[in-house]
Amino acid sequence: MRFSGFKVIKEALTGHKGWGPQWRNPEPKPHYDFIIIGGGGHGLATAYYLVKEFGQKNIAVIEKGWIGGGNVGRNTTIIRSNYLLDGNEPFYEFSLKLWEGLEQDFNYNAMVSQRGILNLIHSDAQRDAFTRRGNAMILNGADAVLLNAEEVRAEVPFLNFDDARFPIKGGLAQRRGGTVRHDAVAWGYARGADQRGVDIIQNCEVTGFRIENGVCKGIETSRGFIGANKVASAVAGSSSRLMSKAGMRLPMESHVLQAFVTEGLKPVIPGVITFGAGHFYVSQSDKGGLVFGGDIDGYNSYAQRGNLPTVEDVCESGMAIMPMIGRSRLLRSWGGIMDMSMDGSPIIDKTHIDGLYFNGGWCYGGFKATPASGWCYAHLLATDTPHKTAKAYRFDRFEHGYMIDEKGMGAQPNLH
Ligand SMILES: Cc1cc2nc3c(=O)[nH]c(=O)nc-3n(C[C@H](O)[C@H](O)[C@H](O)COP(=O)(O)OP(=O)(O)OC[C@H]3O[C@@H](n4cnc5c(N)ncnc54)[C@H](O)[C@@H]3O)c2cc1C
Repeated sequence: MRFSGFKVIKEALTGHKGWGPQWRNPEPKPHYDFIIIGGGGHGLATAYYLVKEFGQKNIAVIEKGWIGGGNVGRNTTIIRSNYLLDGNEPFYEFSLKLWEGLEQDFNYNAMVSQRGILNLIHSDAQRDAFTRRGNAMILNGADAVLLNAEEVRAEVPFLNFDDARFPIKGGLAQRRGGTVRHDAVAWGYARGADQRGVDIIQNCEVTGFRIENGVCKGIETSRGFIGANKVASAVAGSSSRLMSKAGMRLPMESHVLQAFVTEGLKPVIPGVITFGAGHFYVSQSDKGGLVFGGDIDGYNSYAQRGNLPTVEDVCESGMAIMPMIGRSRLLRSWGGIMDMSMDGSPIIDKTHIDGLYFNGGWCYGGFKATPASGWCYAHLLATDTPHKTAKAYRFDRFEHGYMIDEKGMGAQPNLH
């Protein structure tokens, strides 16, 4: 079924009885050419591009729960490409370009909204750092604008300019950044992949790998063994746990990150705003809720919920930058499991086991990466060579010391 304005009007007039399921619910086949483990954004995008861009067939996505139940449906929906380092910026700019045409590409309304992102500057040193970042972005074909304090005030007058512990001295804006409705991304890719023949198998947990003489022959699951020529992990926060079943110890830790939504308010925040003197970012959903988040909880966990001290910490940062947030009521909060890598950057690579591939380490920035991650992973799976924008995302960068440490924090996953 294709979506169109005509179809929406027809359904509105006929009681919405003509909408069918968006994807099939097939039984697993005994063997596939490609098995992708994890029905999150990255796994589904990989399956979609494998067929659409690389002409591959006979593909399954194996998901232990339901489509959209992981981080793809739990994040704060921010997309941007405001990175500094060469290993990162071309990849994230590629992703932003894919976001720009995504809804037309998969014919699904994912509410891609390029309402802009503004990183606030609070010190002269930070202005220098953001100027450098903005220049690096422009050199890589992205857009960036440096604003002074008065220009920021003209755009977002409700911030704390006059009585702030950390005065606002300017901002780095990327006008093409913004937000996307997160779960619709999972649904759009799932529907697009299913239409092209991909089997999306939900409620099927991968419990192990069948590896013979250094070659991965398939996966053990809660619904039995499924054979495959190539097996590709894309399970985000569960990466270490899953890959340990193939005997691999990853340079990664799992941490909780929380998100928060207030009651619906009238439109107040024009785009995404990030605090530069603490970790806090906020935007406003189309329903009116303020959507915000901050630091990870800071301890290893596989729980999809967080703790109260972090709630307090995030809200304090919110109050510091935007005191009026204290008058809004928090409706809900939740947590997701982050695959925090040692340098804060991801991995899209083959493993040392033939036929077994890995995609993970997205920390809390993997939503914006979804289209490019899917495309580059599909490229690797189909051609056995890395895509040009994802060449740096290799396992052996830790062995050789070529870390992509965007934040300059060193090998400390809890700080990235
Ligand atoms: C609170 C929060 C806020 C965030 N905000 C942003 C943001 O604003 N911008 C941004 O760019 N990023 C953000 N992120 C990060 C982003 O959401 C993730 O990096 C990204 O979604 C991870 O990729 P994914 O969508 O494939 O993961 P997931 O949706 O988690 O997909 C992985 C899937 O694998 C499945 N799985 C796990 N183990 C198995 C198994 N053994 N067998 C079968 N299936 C399995 C899981 O059930 C899950 O569905 C945020 C994350 C959180 C939690």
